[in-house]
Amino acid sequence: MKHSIVRWLQCADCGGSLDCEAIAQEGGEAREGRLTCSRCQAVYPIVGSISRFVPGDSYAQNFSFEWNVHRTTQVDSLSGRRDSEVRFLEYGHNANWAPMIQIRSELWAG
Ligand SMILES: [Zn+2]
Repeated sequence: MKHSIVRWLQCADCGGSLDCEAIAQEGGEAREGRLTCSRCQAVYPIVGSISRFVPGDSYAQNFSFEWNVHRTTQVDSLSGRRDSEVRFLEYGHNANWAPMIQIRSELWAG
């Protein structure tokens, strides 16, 4: 997790700011560590460079459900439709879209 994105994160419990403590670093990023809330002292682990804001099992359950039910829902090549392509191109002309792509590529948090 890049240290520069910590300022964009907040505690899932109280909204307080978070402090990052890296236990292992790689390429200037926190590979393992934790985020600690400055207000309520809640602790969120950083595992594999990704901050974890919900218990570990919840990730697998949510992704399993979505994957099993919707794995082909928005794949144009499988649906025979162009919905995803058209939606992407329409939003691509919006001037606010480019910064969103940059933020989303840097902010991969759970
Ligand atoms: Zn908090």
